[in-house]
Amino acid sequence: MITIRHEGCILCAGCASVCPTGALELVGNKIEYYPEKCISCGTCVKVCPAAVITLRKEGKETGAKK
Ligand code: SF4
Ligand code: SF4
Repeated sequence: MITIRHEGCILCAGCASVCPTGALELVGNKIEYYPEKCISCGTCVKVCPAAVITLRKEGKETGAKK
């Protein structure tokens, strides 16, 4: 489960292109997120150049984990 701070997103679509499950998609001028497809792999968090994606686990916000 992730959280996207949309106001900071530069719409590069990087997250959508790396997401292994298609849980992110650039639609119009917004990244759509489909939580039911998300496996919380954290890949999108790592590639986001604007650092607007946060991975949430067990309801707790964590930064990008390495
Ligand atoms: S955490 Fe992984 S599965 Fe979930 S949206 Fe990001 S890249 Fe896709
Ligand atoms: S990688 Fe970050 S800046 Fe790029 S489209 Fe996704 S959320 Fe927006």
